[in-house]
Amino acid sequence: MPVPALDLTRHHGPLFDQFRAAFDQVLRTGQFVLGPAVERFEKRLAERCGVGHAVGLSSGTDALLVAMMALGIGPGDEVIVPTFTFFATAGCVSRTGATPVFADILPDSFNLDPASVSAKITPCTKAVIPVHLYGQTADMDTLNALAKKHNLFVIEDAAQAIAAADKGRPVGTLGHVACLSFYPTKNLSAFGDAGACVTADADLAQKMRQVRNHGQTGEYEHQMVGGNFRLDGVQGAILDVKLDHLTAWTDARRAHAKRYRELMSGIDGLALPAEGPDKFHVYNQYTVRVTPKPGQAPSARRDGLLKHLRSKQIGCRVYYPLCLHLQPCFAGLGGKQGDCPVGERLSQEVLSIPMFPEMTDAEQQEVAAAVREFMLA
Ligand SMILES: *Cc1c(COP(=O)(O)O)cnc(C)c1O
Repeated sequence: MPVPALDLTRHHGPLFDQFRAAFDQVLRTGQFVLGPAVERFEKRLAERCGVGHAVGLSSGTDALLVAMMALGIGPGDEVIVPTFTFFATAGCVSRTGATPVFADILPDSFNLDPASVSAKITPCTKAVIPVHLYGQTADMDTLNALAKKHNLFVIEDAAQAIAAADKGRPVGTLGHVACLSFYPTKNLSAFGDAGACVTADADLAQKMRQVRNHGQTGEYEHQMVGGNFRLDGVQGAILDVKLDHLTAWTDARRAHAKRYRELMSGIDGLALPAEGPDKFHVYNQYTVRVTPKPGQAPSARRDGLLKHLRSKQIGCRVYYPLCLHLQPCFAGLGGKQGDCPVGERLSQEVLSIPMFPEMTDAEQQEVAAAVREFMLA
């Protein structure tokens, strides 16, 4: 039985009628960019995230860019990012004219190692971007203390972590601003590209609203140079419908993670995702680590498992196969093999297996049986 990595048709099926009604409403108002549907979604999103303000944007990438532009980050500044994340986290730093500085991660959480961050802080450091990778928050207490001491902005890259929490505090309240993505593979997804920033800071929210609309402050008056980072009305309306189901979908992901743990514990060479104490992990990805057998190349066993699962039509993927400090486009920054040993090792060992709310128990058993078959061979 094939098992997809995710299945958006199943995900959306029960809501088709509500989506049509949402489309109709946007059609009737004719407000295709921002407008009432976006405003309603922003209001409810802010409430959901436990903060006063949400700003709807064109993508998660643009959310990172808008947050940094609104915070005044630019040439001469340094921004510390994890080396093990999706490209956008660091790409957006470069696009502001600032320099991304790559810190290593922790092996159990896949998230920023505060000790590595601390070692990278210089007088030019303006901000740190903890990424809540795969849906679990970074060590925010330690990172926030460090940021406070050095007067740094904390920008949460929460693209994979809407509804996650750290000691009961939700994503969005754990830094100065949090950036969300509604790309179709994310836990709350639009019908295309979309994103948002959420913050408790009213002035920053106001600034981000200006940045998303070419820095416009009055009628065709521009106090700064922004861009077109606006959210479409249709996306706002769709997201507003889907927001009602976020809790149920998150609970389903967590139940599947628990079931995977029952089905795959105790397999030699296979580390299942560790849920830290006081963490509410939302499992955007279910990412295992496959450690090589003695004498094997670092990624040999992981690559073998990937091939085995794909031969059985089980969707799986490596997020992410190459650390950012080793990416060709950042070669000018002087990163080299050995700079971030944990990230480098994990990029050879991680594998994300199927995870989506509508997964059935039979599908989970199929995946687990295939994993066992390969690992115990
Ligand atoms: C998806 C993602 C982004 C970018 O979001 P888009 O909506 O695809 O632009 C940024 N950071 C992380 C960690 C992501 O997973």
